[in-house]
Amino acid sequence: MFKCQREPFLTQFETVVVSCEEVQDVKLVNKQVGLEEMVPTDKLFKVVLEDTILFPEGGGQPDDRGTIGSAKVIRVIRDGCTAIHYVVEGTGKENGVDGSCLPFEKGQKVSVSIDWNRRLDHMQQHSGQHLVTAIADQMFGFATTSWYLGKEDSFIELDTKQISKDQLKTIEDTVNGHIRDGIACTVEVVELDDPKLKTARGRNLPDDVKGNIRIVTIQGVESNVCCGTHVQSLSQLQAIKLLDAVPKKGKIQLYFVSGNRVLKRFDEMHKREGELMKTLKTNPLDLPSSCEKMNVALRNTKKALLTLNKSLAALEVKQFLLENDTTKKLRHFHRENVDPEYASTFIREMGTVKTAVIFLTFKYEANSANIYLIRGEDSVEESAFKTISEEVSVMLSGKGSLRGNQYQAKITKVGDIAKAVSYLENSLKTQ
Ligand SMILES: [Zn+2]
Repeated sequence: MFKCQREPFLTQFETVVVSCEEVQDVKLVNKQVGLEEMVPTDKLFKVVLEDTILFPEGGGQPDDRGTIGSAKVIRVIRDGCTAIHYVVEGTGKENGVDGSCLPFEKGQKVSVSIDWNRRLDHMQQHSGQHLVTAIADQMFGFATTSWYLGKEDSFIELDTKQISKDQLKTIEDTVNGHIRDGIACTVEVVELDDPKLKTARGRNLPDDVKGNIRIVTIQGVESNVCCGTHVQSLSQLQAIKLLDAVPKKGKIQLYFVSGNRVLKRFDEMHKREGELMKTLKTNPLDLPSSCEKMNVALRNTKKALLTLNKSLAALEVKQFLLENDTTKKLRHFHRENVDPEYASTFIREMGTVKTAVIFLTFKYEANSANIYLIRGEDSVEESAFKTISEEVSVMLSGKGSLRGNQYQAKITKVGDIAKAVSYLENSLKTQ
């Protein structure tokens, strides 16, 4: 049992170093325990203390962050009854004056402090989970099979295929009622054979747990075997907001936020709403209908544009064919700001010009265009046409294919189209 489990509200703690060794194979440790905040240039140390206020992960609750002396703790894991702190050099050396710089010596006194915002947040989500789990089970018989504490949202996996809106509302109302009542949460340490364990939730203990067991109790609501750190009164949860109930593999993942996360979420949503109001120039209540109106208008505009584009393509292809200079071996047509629909209409209406190779380029966006090369029967040999087409495609960083007398490619070097035109003109001259 660690100090953090006995006194979860302790933020500063003096203790003694039991061991401190530099980790040689940082990559391996990273692979084993995931040091997400590890900077590659840092030296990594593995530190064991006589006791700790930094919680090693367990019971679904992530580990704490904090400092030992001036050194930064980037990960804490549990190995049996020992907490292993993974530690790197801190930002300031000023604390080094009192000898708290890395590496620590065995027997050295050190001061441990905790990243309290992170810990309080974890406690609020974890105790919140116990409460929702208890109420969902008591009121509707939905057992919790697992839970996940995420960076933004957390979820509780309920053993039910469905949950109604009314049930969700009832659970939310009940848990927030208990929070208003400020019900006490207590921790009791019992022996493995204590009869109290029979009535407590979650008796699937890890194999390496020996000796004493912790029972976390929300007075009058439920008892739960748990190694995590918890609030002392439900009032410290402030509020719980249930979010989405997502069906997954025959169960329900019930998303929720608890504590400060409720305020944070509300603040973010409020800001977002303000931005939307500014953009759509309307009040919050009319936002959904405003968006819907815009969507309808956009759909209609797209439809109209599609029809116009098709008509335009049909007209432009006619005009292109009218300007028929029979002496030219290459005829090029370029169009920008059109869509693939325009291009396919153009190709459909195009047909062939017997004596020339037709080069069509349609630019959709800055770095995206489609090109077509169409071989007129009397313009160039098939094999030469194939070679020339592929050259053009390479020149424009394209990917394409030849089908019959038509070569088509998607290209990205839109700026080099003029270069491709002169290449084609020169190549066809010699044919
Ligand atoms: Zn728990």
